[in-house]
Amino acid sequence: MRPLQRLLLDWYARTARALPWRATRDPYAILVSEIMLQQTQVSRVVPKYAAFLARFPTAASLAAAPVAEVLTLWQGLGYNRRALALQRAARAVVDEHGGVVPDDLGALLALPGLGPYTARAVLAFAHDREVAPVDTNVARVLSRAAAGAPLGRAAVQRLADDLVPPGEGARWSHALMDLGATVCVARAPRCGACPLADVCAWRVAGGEDPAASTALRARPQAAFAGSDRYPRGRLLDALRAGPVARADLAAAAHLAGAPPARLAVVVDGLVADGLAERDSAGLRLPR
Ligand code: SF4
Repeated sequence: MRPLQRLLLDWYARTARALPWRATRDPYAILVSEIMLQQTQVSRVVPKYAAFLARFPTAASLAAAPVAEVLTLWQGLGYNRRALALQRAARAVVDEHGGVVPDDLGALLALPGLGPYTARAVLAFAHDREVAPVDTNVARVLSRAAAGAPLGRAAVQRLADDLVPPGEGARWSHALMDLGATVCVARAPRCGACPLADVCAWRVAGGEDPAASTALRARPQAAFAGSDRYPRGRLLDALRAGPVARADLAAAAHLAGAPPARLAVVVDGLVADGLAERDSAGLRLPR
């Protein structure tokens, strides 16, 4: 094992964050956690993950559920289209794989809504496979510590997969993610507290931060309040409590007094995304 690998795994053994999805090897539960963790903070995901799995413990139970119930359980996580995508993936798992999440990269990538990150996360975390899911944290750590140079999207994935120590798929990726989240952070890396300080390619060579021009670096999110995401979220929250009459839509979306065209954009968007359905009275969650 290379010094960088050994140092990082030793550090992880001492400092690992205890997260509920790290205590399971169930690929369905790991898939649920990974979809929830896309764009939502760990602290918000923890209680939702437990509640979701208590209600939908298997891909089959999620596949058979009414869409409205799935969306209701998703409340508080945001980016609600992920809930629909997760249910579509569960239905494909039932229809095409007998209810068992596949353990093959190609089959995982063929599931609706799964990209290279999520497919590799399932393989690494459920099966200890020697592949590495690459998110912004992983790309940043690898560009600094292992390459000491900016990396394009394909190069960072290749390097990440090559660096997985034999038989350590899960622990290795958890360790990389933890280091990126807590020590090798974007703006002011805490090199003095880093287990890789002595072997970090960037720290040894100096110069420009390679993470600044590496693929998959974090992009600033659009402001929530003032964007259409805000009225969408408010209207969807109202729909979770029950159907909303046409006359009440603007108030439910916090768009009372706004031009009607703005409400129309929000409603049309929810319907187009499969998050709401029109009926003769107004709007409701899909059945
Ligand atoms: S030494 Fe600094 S730059 Fe290198 S991996 Fe550690 S925190 Fe990141």
